[in-house]
Amino acid sequence: MTAQLIDGNALAKTIRTEVAGRTAALKARGVNPALSIILVGEDPASQVYTKHKVNDSTQTGLEATLETYPADMTEADLLARIRALNDDPKVHGILVQLPLPKHMDSQKVIETISPTKDVDGFHVASAGALMTGAPGFWPCTPHGCMKMLEAIGYDLRGKHAVVIGRSNIVGKPMAMMLLAKSATVTICHSATQDLGAITRQADVVVAAVGKLNLLTADMVKPGAVVIDVGMNRKADGKLAGDVDFDGVKEVAGWITPVPGGVGPMTRAMLLVNTLEAAERAAK
Ligand code: NAP
Repeated sequence: MTAQLIDGNALAKTIRTEVAGRTAALKARGVNPALSIILVGEDPASQVYTKHKVNDSTQTGLEATLETYPADMTEADLLARIRALNDDPKVHGILVQLPLPKHMDSQKVIETISPTKDVDGFHVASAGALMTGAPGFWPCTPHGCMKMLEAIGYDLRGKHAVVIGRSNIVGKPMAMMLLAKSATVTICHSATQDLGAITRQADVVVAAVGKLNLLTADMVKPGAVVIDVGMNRKADGKLAGDVDFDGVKEVAGWITPVPGGVGPMTRAMLLVNTLEAAERAAK
């Protein structure tokens, strides 16, 4: 069997087109959806990510501002800047790029962002909203994975979904989103014993660990949907996920590639969240 590919690049392009249309409609009503991104320090990867976020936004018609601060910025100054953005009605989304310098308490910084502007979905209020089904912002990566399942018309009701990884930004929210669609959900982590025995029972596997070849063909039920969130560098410097793509694609029914899978979807969902923040503010 050769799995069908879930093309994250193509799906993200469709989502960006939808965002551009809704953004234009909002602008016609005099509302300019705007995202403020804060970068503290000079982490090279963070510089690349924030640049992408600005470019993605402006290409879809959203306003995006990148504020950069030196690594020795005080936490008090950062919190003051976030509060000012919270109070600015022209700003709809606020994103503080992680990781922050070690002298800052990341959770405290995130909790300072108004939940109405928390477009990364990392605020405890956003996590609570996801848990209870209240309106809020869903973290972009698991939200993007859900969009991929939606795009292939996959009915999760009664299916067994296995999420490997339990971080607050990927694994746990992913599990909640799958549960909300009435899947039976198993969450695995570093202490899980005999991972393969569990994943072999899964109709859907989401791998979000950060370990090359964590999921191999012998661990996958024939026809299963396999979503690869992992991002790893191979010895040759190339990007790869957690899934042994070449082996697993012969067993799975659907599979996401790395690169070109969950990554572009994560980027697209930030645009969706920013637009939704502006639409909610305009109501
Ligand atoms: P994280 O916070 O390091 O969490 C990794 C999780 O994997 C932990 O829950 C850990 O378990 C679990 N784990 C570690 N070794 C394991 C094993 N052998 N078997 C089963 N579970 C194991 O990482 P993260 O932030 O969630 O990110 C996970 C991966 O996704 C990384 O590669 C990251 O780069 C990637 N990522 C990609 C995107 C994207 O847009 N494509 C976005 C975000 C993250 P414990 O909790 O027990 O330690």
